[in-house]
Amino acid sequence: MHENDLKLLEETFKKYYFDHFDLIHVPPRSAEREFGYQKFNSGMIRHLTIKNDKELHLMLMNNVPSDVYCSNAYYSFPNLPMEEKDWKEANLIFDIDAKDLNLDCRNDHICKKCRSCQEVFVNLSECPNCQSKKLDQRSLTCKNCIHAVKQEVKKLFSILIDDLGIEQNNIQVFFSGNEGFHIYALNTQYEKLGSRERADLVDYLMLRGTIPETFGFKKFKSERSSFPDFDEKGWKGRVAEYLFGSKSKRSKLITKILADGYSSFQKQLEDVKEAVGIKIDPNVTIDIHRIFRLPGSLNSKSGLTKQKCENVDTFDPFSDACFIDDKPTEVLANCPSSFELKNKKFGPFKNEKVLIPKFAAIYMICKGLATSTW
Ligand SMILES: [Zn+2]
Ligand SMILES: [Zn+2]
Repeated sequence: MHENDLKLLEETFKKYYFDHFDLIHVPPRSAEREFGYQKFNSGMIRHLTIKNDKELHLMLMNNVPSDVYCSNAYYSFPNLPMEEKDWKEANLIFDIDAKDLNLDCRNDHICKKCRSCQEVFVNLSECPNCQSKKLDQRSLTCKNCIHAVKQEVKKLFSILIDDLGIEQNNIQVFFSGNEGFHIYALNTQYEKLGSRERADLVDYLMLRGTIPETFGFKKFKSERSSFPDFDEKGWKGRVAEYLFGSKSKRSKLITKILADGYSSFQKQLEDVKEAVGIKIDPNVTIDIHRIFRLPGSLNSKSGLTKQKCENVDTFDPFSDACFIDDKPTEVLANCPSSFELKNKKFGPFKNEKVLIPKFAAIYMICKGLATSTW
């Protein structure tokens, strides 16, 4: 990263943390958690303990981190090396990210940068200038992406309540600060689960590993009554809804499924999984030693804040998570896709000097699509 960009980012992040102490707090049982942070242009520092907000704010002011993290796990000795920490339990966390949803819109806003000649472009799989295929990718998330992720979040939310019996007020949803949402289930009976049990939970939510027998099709002698029905709890009810559409069509469609045979139903279930399985990132939920971006902290991939969503439907990350000020800032921008922040549209910019609000300048610098002209 250029010296000027580094200076601007550090100054901006420091100002954010100074002005917004109210947004960033240590989580409950802070003394039992592991903290970590990264500075711009350097590696991760882990195995820290931060006991209260005062210590946290001091750390932010002294180090001006690019990213701040905290464990979902509780330990007896959070600042010792991993094998000596003595793991007790961990909050259940889910990550749903736009990159995992296979959306068409992404072709238009994943900006690619050629590693050989630095050409920046969208929509192509090789550099139009030198034909190199070694490209870095940075997505400028769009409203469609956010809308689609929210739909997955809401699906997950209701399954956590209906199928896993988690109380609504124990579930918290956060915008990740870049392209996704983190869903936390706190104070649940699942906190003691190890990685393997969490992997089973992930399979359940993603509808992985289901076979025709799961939904009533037996290789030998299937019975019509064993196929899923609308009023059944859990996946059976949801899959019935997806497979049959309406109650009146159920009988006719079961006849068709039986006539088409076992392997055809197996393929059909793959489509069902793709359509209705929850698209969480399995690794995030399974890893019980991970440190997660701390709510209220800035995400250095965007300059946006990891922010709690009180109402998922109305939450607008492009405004509600954008806290950097609007002081006019000049950058050399090379940004082939447009983007929207605080209800203003910016770009596309083709290698040009532009004077724009600081929040937009920081966003592009974080994405590697602009440099400061200081
Ligand atoms: Zn090139
Ligand atoms: Zn999109």
